[in-house]
Amino acid sequence: MKLSVVIPCFNEEQVIDEVYRRLNTLLNSYMANALIDDYEVIYVDDGSSDGTLSALKRLAAADKRVRAISFSGNFGHQPALTAGLYHASGDMAVSLDADLQDPPEVIGEMIKRCADGADIVYGVRDDRQEDTWFKRVTAQAFYKFMTLMGVNLIHNHADFRLLSRAALDAFQRYGEVNRFLRGMFPSMGFKHSIVNYKRERRFAGTTKYPLKKMVSFAVEGITSFTNFPLRLAFVLGFVNFVAAIILGIWTIVSKLKGSAVPGWASIVLPIYLFGGIQLMFIGILSEYVGKIYMEVKHRPVFIIRETYNFDDKGQGKSP
Ligand code: UDP
Ligand code: MG
Repeated sequence: MKLSVVIPCFNEEQVIDEVYRRLNTLLNSYMANALIDDYEVIYVDDGSSDGTLSALKRLAAADKRVRAISFSGNFGHQPALTAGLYHASGDMAVSLDADLQDPPEVIGEMIKRCADGADIVYGVRDDRQEDTWFKRVTAQAFYKFMTLMGVNLIHNHADFRLLSRAALDAFQRYGEVNRFLRGMFPSMGFKHSIVNYKRERRFAGTTKYPLKKMVSFAVEGITSFTNFPLRLAFVLGFVNFVAAIILGIWTIVSKLKGSAVPGWASIVLPIYLFGGIQLMFIGILSEYVGKIYMEVKHRPVFIIRETYNFDDKGQGKSP
C-alpha cells in the first residue's frame, strides 16, 4: 500500500522544514512497521510570495519522495488541495494543513480505519480550544446554519481526511469549478469512519485565512450545496402575498364601513419592509447567478506553472 500525503502551502516558509522533518520520521516509521509499503508527500505551492517554493525545490532535490506542484498564482486552499489529490499516485491519500495544526501522528489510525474498510476517514477535532474566540463562534454558527439548510457536513471536520483510491477516483469525476471539499466528500456516499484528534496551535507564522477569505469560503459552501436560500425567497414571498391579500380585504371592508383613516405608517412601513426583502433576495439570486456564470465559463480550477519530481513534467492533470 502506497500512501500519498497532500499539503497545500501558502506563504508557509517558516513551517515547511518542520513539516518535512515530522512527516519524514513518521512515515519512515510506518514503513518500518509495515503499515505502508511506500509513500509520497505532495506539497502544493499556492502562489506563495515568500521562500516557500525555494524550500520545496530544495526538499524535492534531496528526497525523491517529496513532490511539489507550483501554481501560477494564488488560487486558494481548496484548489490547492484539489491539485494535490489529482496528482496523488497512492492507494490512499491524506490531506493536511501545512501549519501542523492537524497532528500527522493521527494518520496511522486513519490508515488502519481504511484497512478496515472505510473509503473516507474524517479527522474530527475534539474541541476548539486553540482557536480565537471569533473563529470559534463564527465556525460554530456556520456549521449550525449549514445543517439547518440541509447540507451534509461532518461537524468539526476541516480538510484533514484520508481517501481511498476509490474515493480519489470518484473525486476526479466532479467537474465543478466552485469547490467546497468538505461538502463534496460527504455527498459521495462510501463507507466512512471518524478519527478524533486534538487540533494543535499553528506551528509558526500567521493564519492564511483572513476574514475576507473566511466569508467567501462560507458563501461558497452554502451556494455550492443548497438551494435553500432560493426556496426561502419563495416562501417569504408567498407569505407576503397572503398577507397582502388579507390586508387588501381588510382595507376594502374598512372603506365600506367608512372607518378608513388615512395612515402614514401603514404605507411607509411596507415600503421599507418589502424593499429590504426584495433587495436581499436579489442579492442571493445574484450570488447563484454569479456561480452559474463561473461554472459556464469552465475556467480551470488551478493553473500549474511547474512540477517537481513528477514523471509528467509541466502541466499535469486539471479538472
Ligand atoms: N492555504 C492555501 N491557500 C490560501 C490560504 C491557505 O493553500 O489561499 C493553506 C495554508 O498554507 C494552510 C492551509 O491552507 O496549509 C490552512 O490555512 P491556515 O492554517 O492559514 O488556516 P486556519 O488554520 O487559520 O483556518
Ligand atoms: Mg491553520
